[in-house]
This record gives sequence, structure tokens and C-alpha cells, in this order.
Amino acid sequence: MREGIILRCTECNEENYIGDKNKRLHPERVEYNKYCPRCNKKTVHKEKK
Ligand SMILES: [Zn+2]
Repeated sequence: MREGIILRCTECNEENYIGDKNKRLHPERVEYNKYCPRCNKKTVHKEKK
């Protein structure tokens, strides 16, 4: 049971990553620390709904 997600930078709102997650393991909206090329640093990326 996997779901496609888009991860969006919380600082500039750029959509930087596309992936998927296991909805059974992560029923909540996920957050990852990832590199944002627009901010040129690691920022918190949240799943776009
Ligand atoms: Zn950013």
C-alpha cells in the first residue's frame, strides 16, 4: 500500500522531491530534512497534500 507524494520546502515552497511512502507505516503527513537547491541548504520538507 504505497502512495505517491510530493515533498515541498517549508521555507520557499519549492517542490523539490517526488517519491512515495508506505501509508500503513506513515499514516500522518511526513517531514524530512532535505537539501533545497533554491534555499541552498537543508530545510524541512513536508508532504504536499
Ligand atoms: Zn527552499
